[in-house]
Amino acid sequence: MTCRAYIGLGANLGADLGATLTQAALQLAALPGTQVVALSSLWRSAPVEATGPDFVNAVVALDTGLAPLDLLDALQAIEQAHGRERPYRNAPRTLDLDLLLYGDVVLDTPRLTLPHPRLGERAFVLRPLLEIEPALIGLATGQGWQAQRIERLGPLSL
Ligand code: AMP
Repeated sequence: MTCRAYIGLGANLGADLGATLTQAALQLAALPGTQVVALSSLWRSAPVEATGPDFVNAVVALDTGLAPLDLLDALQAIEQAHGRERPYRNAPRTLDLDLLLYGDVVLDTPRLTLPHPRLGERAFVLRPLLEIEPALIGLATGQGWQAQRIERLGPLSL
């Protein structure tokens, strides 16, 4: 049995952020028992509650047989594989992968909160998520996210 999961991808450190997200999406597609079913565009967003360079963001929809914590382990392993070049503590991220939604699962544990907290108030999550699944508009909380600076860069293609 598989479950539809949505992964938020973001990067703001590196020479080619689009290439980083493309590579990460390929790594998601290669996870055991997992298929990519939809890709958002690449979007450029201003950092939220942080300083530093703009982010490039995307959302990938997966059908996966991995359990939620196994999927989180896999996301963190992919982050680690991209994170070896940390120039200083708390440096901007080479790659951030968030488990946004795992089916209808609601969870609040120290390691994993589902749906992802703050998902509903961030344009850099909502714009790409709604691009591939407009029916999820009910997850948006308030209107503030609509004023956040974000622009579509182009397609994410594997
Ligand atoms: P961050 O520094 O924003 O990448 O957050 C990573 C931490 O958030 C890890 O310790 C995860 O265990 C925790 N976490 C809780 N819920 C989630 C989620 N839905 N997706 C990704 N990380 C999560």
